Amino acid sequence: MTQGPCAIADDIRVFNRGWLSSTNVLCLGDDPALVDTGHVKHAAQTVALVRDALGGQPLARIAHTHLHSDHCGGTGALQAGWPAAQTWVPEPSLDAAQRWDERALSFGPTGQRCERFQAQHALRPGDTVRLGARTWQIHAAPGHDNLAVLLFEPTARILIAGDALWEHGVGVIFPQIDGGEGFAGFERTLQTIEALQPEWVVPGHGQPIARAGGGVERAFGQARARVQHFQAHPAQHALYAAKVMVKYQLLDVEAMALDDFQAWAGAAAILRQLHALHRPEQPWSDWLQHAVLAPLLDKGTLHQDATHIRNGAD
Ligand SMILES: [Zn+2]
Repeated sequence: MTQGPCAIADDIRVFNRGWLSSTNVLCLGDDPALVDTGHVKHAAQTVALVRDALGGQPLARIAHTHLHSDHCGGTGALQAGWPAAQTWVPEPSLDAAQRWDERALSFGPTGQRCERFQAQHALRPGDTVRLGARTWQIHAAPGHDNLAVLLFEPTARILIAGDALWEHGVGVIFPQIDGGEGFAGFERTLQTIEALQPEWVVPGHGQPIARAGGGVERAFGQARARVQHFQAHPAQHALYAAKVMVKYQLLDVEAMALDDFQAWAGAAAILRQLHALHRPEQPWSDWLQHAVLAPLLDKGTLHQDATHIRNGAD
């Protein structure tokens, strides 16, 4: 866990808690705002971090780069803590969030949990939004999630990238799993980011990346290489995604009885889709054990004994 004043600017705070919770960006000013709220598992900690950083000022706004469960799981708790706070979500997600359609919001198909929250406002590409002391441009960011947005502050050239750009590698390209155009969208988003020429990129997971010293360029190079590799070998993307889904679940619940794990995996529609994309000829349970779990167990990413599967250190 890292926090506190960061090198980007005095009015920007970045909370970084590893992989299960996304990076949270607190924008200080007259209307303090938090961008992305982490996983529900860390919701109480998120509220405490924000309360501490605000020093008595109320949180006025909450915004989301996209509505994956690791980016909006703390929103309900923040709204309970600051009932007057107004909440923004990407425009195509607003209706689903207001109706709390778990299927459209991806929590159903991924078998992930997220606490319900209220959303009042849309983040529309081409518009701007006031967060903290700054006005942020909104840009579309297809690829990882076709509904996602980037937030860019053009004065200091700060980009809040969500999961569109990480320092190393790329996140799962979800639209590709649903039969959409994920790889091409991802490349378009990289081009959008390149054209913005950010001095700082705050990724959805990990520490802020500085252009000075070549960090942003290196991140681009790695992301491009990874997406091109997946484009050439889409079955490998499916396997990577399946491993991510399973590890993420164990990061959340930490341990599951083997029967419960089988039931969870069998009910997670996305894993069925990934099985079909990776090795449809291999029987489901054989695929799950030998293609997905075995490499994770070999690396110590997960552990399995006679009764349980558990999260590992890696
Ligand atoms: Zn995401």
